[in-house]
Amino acid sequence: MAKNVLVLADVRNGKLRNVTFEMLAAANQIADGGQVAAVLLGSGVEGLAEGLGDAGADTVYVVDAPELEKYTPSAYRKAFLEAHNDFGSDVLLLAHSAVGKDLAPVVAMRLSAGQVSDIVGFDMEGGDIVFTRPIYAGKAFTKVKVTDGIVIATVRPNNLPAPESGFGKSGTVKKLAVSFEQADLTTVVKEIIKKTTTGVDLTEAKIIVSGGRGVKSADGFQPLRELADVLGAAVGASRGACDAGYCDYSMQIGQTGKVVTPDLYIACGISGAIQHLAGMSNSKVIVAINKDPEAPIFQVADYGIVGDLFEVVPMLTEEFKKV
Ligand code: FAD
Repeated sequence: MAKNVLVLADVRNGKLRNVTFEMLAAANQIADGGQVAAVLLGSGVEGLAEGLGDAGADTVYVVDAPELEKYTPSAYRKAFLEAHNDFGSDVLLLAHSAVGKDLAPVVAMRLSAGQVSDIVGFDMEGGDIVFTRPIYAGKAFTKVKVTDGIVIATVRPNNLPAPESGFGKSGTVKKLAVSFEQADLTTVVKEIIKKTTTGVDLTEAKIIVSGGRGVKSADGFQPLRELADVLGAAVGASRGACDAGYCDYSMQIGQTGKVVTPDLYIACGISGAIQHLAGMSNSKVIVAINKDPEAPIFQVADYGIVGDLFEVVPMLTEEFKKV
């Protein structure tokens, strides 16, 4: 059954994140002959519309307004709902990012829609969308479908297949003029931006080098950073390392940190507690470096190196430099 699918483009620092293209590809599968639209919200974002047709959007809604320069739930909700009202969406997709996680329930409530969070896959069954999402901190997966009305889903980055080739759609730009009232606006008093050490965004990174309490100090992360630089990777951490003050909490991966699904995850001096696995066990290839052969991380690792990370990591760095 044909459906109109609306995708909220995920914009960070003036750029589209890859999850936008993953969502548009999924939207084309879900639409089943219906229309697909992307929504660009922000200030100075109009230029990003170019290329979204090829990425799978029939229409690109643009709400370019100074009030949308920083994310606020009230103003973003208003602008997103105006695009939805114009388009008549049956399904709305948002990234499972900080913005998507905040905005989706607000929009779902306004539309009396059924929401499914953190989806990692889906199947089409007789016109219904059956979503797959992790449960029990990633120990199991469940299948969920919304049986009635509008569907809203947040999509975990790096899980749905990226489009293999362009869709060649028109991507017709439709600018919406939204009038914001004082009640729609929240004032951002202070913005604290945590910079990743290597400049690579953890949740979008294809390779992550992650350190645990085994790195023993803040300086102990240096060999990991050097390996990450050579690999073009992001640097992550366990909560053990964050709690010990070796690194910032913005680097924490796990149940109460970031959820990541890179192609390669290199865990250095991390024991593999269930709460850490919740954030990284869906990585495509896991390499564990730990001096304890009994460490639980080896149970989920594809490759295990039993050894001292301060010897193993520099050796890997030297080898990768030769490639
Ligand atoms: P440890 O468990 O102390 O492990 C350190 C490892 O380093 C050991 O396996 C040791 O053999 C190895 N090692 C030591 N020296 C070396 C060396 N020189 N070379 C190689 N290996 C070495 N944890 C998270 O990570 N993320 C979360 O989001 C998270 N959320 C939580 C939420 C709740 C509600 C609770 C209760 C806990 C949570 N935790 C989380 C904490 C989690 O339970 C573990 O305590 C934590 O993951 C342990 O961190 P670690 O593996 O770095 O430290």
